[in-house]
Amino acid sequence: MRILIVEDDAALARGIVSSLRLGGYAVDHLSNGADVAHLLRQDVFALVVLDLGLPDQSGFDILREIRRAGLQTPVMILTARSAVADRVRGLDLGADDYLTKPFDPAELEARVRALVRRGSGHPDPILSCGDLVYDRSSQVATLCGKTLPLRKRELAILESLMTRAGKVVSKDRLISEVFGYDEEISPNAIEVYIARLRRCFGESGPRIVTLRGLGYLMESNAVEAGQ
Ligand code: CA
Repeated sequence: MRILIVEDDAALARGIVSSLRLGGYAVDHLSNGADVAHLLRQDVFALVVLDLGLPDQSGFDILREIRRAGLQTPVMILTARSAVADRVRGLDLGADDYLTKPFDPAELEARVRALVRRGSGHPDPILSCGDLVYDRSSQVATLCGKTLPLRKRELAILESLMTRAGKVVSKDRLISEVFGYDEEISPNAIEVYIARLRRCFGESGPRIVTLRGLGYLMESNAVEAGQ
């Protein structure tokens, strides 16, 4: 899942970016508001973390622009302004959450996880597909109760496929959700991760079907057993 951070305080932005990357998210950072709506139209972001006091414009104006454009990406406002009037204004303009600086990174991460889950249409942290279970809070995937040795990116792809199990997910969408702009992506990166997921699932696990030119589709192993 991919997150956009809009924050002009460089040190704070670095801290947020690195902690969310450790949490398995693809993260992009902008230090001003000019390109926010443009980026959101171009790519699939699961969340925007938006500072209110930016050098070129107010976060409120950006939020208004995003919502007027019909963009539904969840937005969490991050700001030093703690006045109730500001919180109310932010929420009324279409923000989904509001966190006041200074904050505990653990709280930021937990709120991010909750907003991303809700935005994906699966508020429960536990995703399941047949015997495959992925706990997005602890980032542990198990198949028939056994933990799978998956790395961050593989888990990100797994999450993307599991939230849309039974539906086709295009390769472009996977790339957009799993990698940030500044990351080098080899042409066959997604294939490599998918191959590794298939190896981990083995014969008895769910299947990841390749639909040439369309994308990938995850099928539960329980379907054929008639469950
Ligand atoms: Ca600021």
